[in-house]
Amino acid sequence: MRFDLITLFPDMCAALREHGVSGRAHQRGLWTLHAWNPRDFTHDAHRTVDDRPFGGGPGMVMMAEPLALAVQAIRADRLQAGVDSPDQVAPVVLLSPAGQVHHQAQARGWAGGTGAILVCGRYEGIDQRFIDHYVDQQVSLGDFVLSGGELAALVLIDSVVRLLPGVLHDAESAEQDSFNPALTGLLDSPHYTRPEVWRDQVVPETLLSGHHARIQAWRRQQSLHLTQAERPDLVEQARAAGGLSRQDEACLDALDKAR
Ligand code: SAM
Repeated sequence: MRFDLITLFPDMCAALREHGVSGRAHQRGLWTLHAWNPRDFTHDAHRTVDDRPFGGGPGMVMMAEPLALAVQAIRADRLQAGVDSPDQVAPVVLLSPAGQVHHQAQARGWAGGTGAILVCGRYEGIDQRFIDHYVDQQVSLGDFVLSGGELAALVLIDSVVRLLPGVLHDAESAEQDSFNPALTGLLDSPHYTRPEVWRDQVVPETLLSGHHARIQAWRRQQSLHLTQAERPDLVEQARAAGGLSRQDEACLDALDKAR
């Protein structure tokens, strides 16, 4: 899997390329991240990539041409590297508040692909003509405004890369994370580690029992409680999808009555 980032701040890629799970996987060649600076595709002495908005208003707008040239160079490079073929080119994805909000099911979908060309906006945004001509998809991180698309792109990539085969030591750990089908889309249960008593607080007895079935049942119950408290919408979704068993419903009923 290969990601190409069009960014005015290529150094920001180090956050993923050099640290933690994604960094180790990058070193092992399980995925690659290439940064492309639109300034390298300008022809003036100042390497200008932005200009004032037509119609007036605050801030600057990223110009279409350096971004278009960057996309063309990336496409050629991906073809030459054999990552893409003439009939299967990587999608151009713009990080933008106007996009669909990213979520775990999308991350799973991306993990089955070969990567993407991610465009990181800055300033007030990007000339609409570039978006109309080149962008296949827009992705948002949520209903807030960031100063640039880089952090959003890196978050998106991280959510995908950790799902690739061989990236996590224990493949099951990704499956047992929040939002995944193994948890019927609910939140993960709480975790504990040593010591057994920390500042007078003890680890729940069930987790020390060594009784696998009881531990599983406890985790499911905790997952239901936590999700009902923090994200009742996810409980509703699981119910609508037929993902709640009779025991699950009994557990939620008991929780309701205890309130
Ligand atoms: N004027 C734009 C607006 O109001 O929608 C915001 C521009 S923002 C300061 C600069 C860049 O940050 C955007 O072009 C986009 O690439 C990125 N960005 C900002 N918020 C984002 C979000 N919620 N998700 C993804 N990217 C975002």
